[in-house]
Amino acid sequence: MIDATWRLYGVCAHPAAHSLSPQMQNAALAAAGINGVYLAFDVPPAALGDMVRAIRALGIAGMNVSIPHKRAVGALLDGLEGDAVLSGSVNTIIQRQGRLIGYSTDGEGFIRSLREEAGYTPRGKKICLLGTGGAALALTTRLIREEAAGITLVTRGKKAAPDWPATAMGGLNPRMVTYDDLHADPGLLDGYDLLINTTPLGMHPDTQDMPPVPVSIFHPGLLVYDLIYNPRVTRLMAAAGKAGAKVLNGLGMLVYQGAASFELWTGRQAPVRAMREALEACPWNDDQG
Ligand code: NAP
Repeated sequence: MIDATWRLYGVCAHPAAHSLSPQMQNAALAAAGINGVYLAFDVPPAALGDMVRAIRALGIAGMNVSIPHKRAVGALLDGLEGDAVLSGSVNTIIQRQGRLIGYSTDGEGFIRSLREEAGYTPRGKKICLLGTGGAALALTTRLIREEAAGITLVTRGKKAAPDWPATAMGGLNPRMVTYDDLHADPGLLDGYDLLINTTPLGMHPDTQDMPPVPVSIFHPGLLVYDLIYNPRVTRLMAAAGKAGAKVLNGLGMLVYQGAASFELWTGRQAPVRAMREALEACPWNDDQG
């Protein structure tokens, strides 16, 4: 039974109703025997300041931050730590002695998924990311720290570097190319080991979409990681798999970024198996292609 000792956790996003974090994090709290409940809060951008004040006033123990607040929330907190310092992107807030500290666990979740699900480490590898949004920023920052040998970002129409904090680039200047450049010369990705889709192209319900890359870039030595997890096999993954590339969807990243948040809030090892099982049991998994 819930009593006065229970702690409140949550995620703030806009919209928030589609979030799978409540299923995953409530399963984690239950499996770890922690008296806590995790809720989703739909917070429009104009209410973000009120949300942060509510975290302080109500003593909310931990909060995830999702689209569209990841870059805006940092300025409202008392400090940033870890990957959030470099990227300026926050997906986890922890309350420590009345101070709100922002972290980013997206990069860690991605790296752990790569390691545990594909036995892959980025060190010394040449890596291509499709898209230059928030997830691409978090991953690029982390991949630089993990000593990737080279990074190419593929964008729709502009060759200038994306509007990212200079600190996030750690002195490395990722190469920018367009999809047209890639069609003109697929050899631009010769020797690349890992291709990551950070665009929303192919996500449910638009499952027939895929990033406009030439299929000749796919080969058996390539790992294609799609951040999308609904559907489980995207059109990009199917095309890459057909050419012999290894493929992975974003479910593992979702689990491990959530596990890293859980560990920051509770100081306990996250029950990742229970978290993954909770996600696998969600109804959205049943109607996928
Ligand atoms: P975002 O900030 O909106 O960025 C997406 C990027 O994709 C854009 O910056 C854009 O890059 C490119 N893009 C958008 N629409 C496009 C289109 N029609 N054609 C080609 N490129 C397009 O979103 P985000 O926060 O980075 O998230 C990106 C995806 O990753 C989402 O699907 C999200 O659900 C997923 N994600 C998954 C996890 C996980 O745990 N698995 C975690 C975070 C995010 P250019 O303007 O440079 O072309």
